[in-house]
Amino acid sequence: MTDDVQHMKWWGWGVDGVGFHWQDKPGFAPFVEQAVGLDLHTAPPVDPPSFDDITVAASLASPAFVSSLASIVGADHVTTDKLDRVVHTYGKSLRDLVRVRANLIERAPDLVVYPGDEDEVQRVVDAAVAADVVIIPFGGGSNIAGSLEPRADETRVVLSLDMGRMRELIDIDEESGLARIQAGALGPDLEQQLGARGWTLGHFPDSFTHSSLGGWIATRSSGMQSDKYGDIADIVRGLHVVRPSSAGVSGLLVIRPIPSSSTGPSVREMIVGSEGRLGIITEATVVVHRIPAKRDVYGYFFPNWEAGIAAMEEIAESDATPSITRISDARETGFSLATSKERHGFDKFAAGTVLPTLMKSKGWKLDDICLSFIGYEGGEAHATRQKKLVDRIVKKHGGMGVGKGPGVLYDQKKFDTPYLRDFLLDRGAAGDVSESAMPWSKVNQLHDNVVAAAEKAFDEIGIKGWIMSHMSHSYHSGACLYFTFAFVFGKDPLGEYDVVKRAIQQAFIDNGGSLSHHHGVGLEHAPWLEQDISSQGVAVMRGLFEAVDPGANFNPRKIV
Ligand code: FAD
Repeated sequence: MTDDVQHMKWWGWGVDGVGFHWQDKPGFAPFVEQAVGLDLHTAPPVDPPSFDDITVAASLASPAFVSSLASIVGADHVTTDKLDRVVHTYGKSLRDLVRVRANLIERAPDLVVYPGDEDEVQRVVDAAVAADVVIIPFGGGSNIAGSLEPRADETRVVLSLDMGRMRELIDIDEESGLARIQAGALGPDLEQQLGARGWTLGHFPDSFTHSSLGGWIATRSSGMQSDKYGDIADIVRGLHVVRPSSAGVSGLLVIRPIPSSSTGPSVREMIVGSEGRLGIITEATVVVHRIPAKRDVYGYFFPNWEAGIAAMEEIAESDATPSITRISDARETGFSLATSKERHGFDKFAAGTVLPTLMKSKGWKLDDICLSFIGYEGGEAHATRQKKLVDRIVKKHGGMGVGKGPGVLYDQKKFDTPYLRDFLLDRGAAGDVSESAMPWSKVNQLHDNVVAAAEKAFDEIGIKGWIMSHMSHSYHSGACLYFTFAFVFGKDPLGEYDVVKRAIQQAFIDNGGSLSHHHGVGLEHAPWLEQDISSQGVAVMRGLFEAVDPGANFNPRKIV
């Protein structure tokens, strides 16, 4: 491994020594038993697999090709090492984790290259294309749509191009609020460099700690505060993309950071979400903001999902511009309260008698209540005014505010939940997510029908399963619903997973939603692409990829 690039565990999320713990969360074990029938007291965890048991076919890269790349990036930055190849084989989807843990690696990249600057990327790309090698760009390796794995039947050499050494903040145009940043910067590194100069990007996906700027752009990512800062598609203005050079003409595609333009179709938009198929994003110029003077997240309760969604819709249409609008359905509200640590402060209040008594006195059914988080950011006066506007709407829809306590908990837990998937896998259970965007008029219908479709799928495979949801982002015309589902594996983990995942994805499309809101297409969601954008839409996309990459060297067969 290259010393100066950190990777996640090869078998799971995050770094060694960090994981999810349940013993300090009194409500968690009973919740899991009731939801999926798993008794944590009697289900001992299985240790993660030993790396010695993992087998990978010999690298197809010839010593001559490896040494030609070493002459470009340095011998320390090109490798055919087994651990490097395994780390770069998959992302972190449930399917990826199940396969890597079970030693199901049909096709690993043959070598991994770590370029140090744009010129090295250009020379690596040119050498690879000249040798008809497949290039798969790698950012943080966190994607969950099957966007990284080499196709199983690939007979050519596969090169994983890891952008991890290219992580510098190059420059800030303070007058325009634009920052030029190298594409390999991971979330914390990027925010630390911006923060040191008083700026923030404001892009915080749940995977923030282990995902990169280039990966966010290549998958059309969205963050927790995107209601205020925009999705990455709104944030990115300028781009450098390295494509093959030919006959002395540079392969560098440059999109200048213009605030808006009438040049269309937009090449910038083609790059955003291209999943490595159009070239290597080496840097981006992104919209940045001064770190806000005030940032608060408040908790609210609603008597039921319909009332909460009606309030979120009205907030989206109002003058209020909160940074976060999020509401959990009743099931996820139960889960959130169950994953709280020892009860003190807000938890004690919520789980004790005061709040339930108050809710009952209002005629609420405790099984129906929904927890919402709403965030306010900006100057003191702005944040205060936003909250006033929102409070009025919440009240109109029968909700009530419960202060900052839950918001503090939300902030503390937001980057921990990814570890829960490994915790469940260690105990023979699946936990995964799927999300979709839809117009406001379809939100309730889609929610109910996706839950029903998942439950039907659980019945079909004869397994007790669990599905819950929250609205994670809102827009003027609609919202994103984010579903989390779990079940204990039977005899055929991947087959059972397919049945449930397929049912959820099809229910998205059948109920007016997109195939995904922020996870991209990859291989995982490609079967729904035609239903998402029509056969003509697929033809346009296919034509684009075939025309600009005739040799199919750039991450072939992803998306289409
Ligand atoms: P990678 O996984 O390394 O790559 C993803 C794709 O982008 C691949 O096709 C790759 O080839 C391509 N790519 C990467 N870098 C470049 C580059 N420089 N040039 C060209 N192509 C490139 N996503 C969200 O948007 N919001 C969330 O809240 C969120 N939460 C998540 C939580 C968990 C627990 C997990 C596992 C994933 C989550 N994701 C989320 C999905 C994932 O983090 C995103 O898809 C992320 O944008 C991927 O970035 P990455 O740097 O890890 O890219």
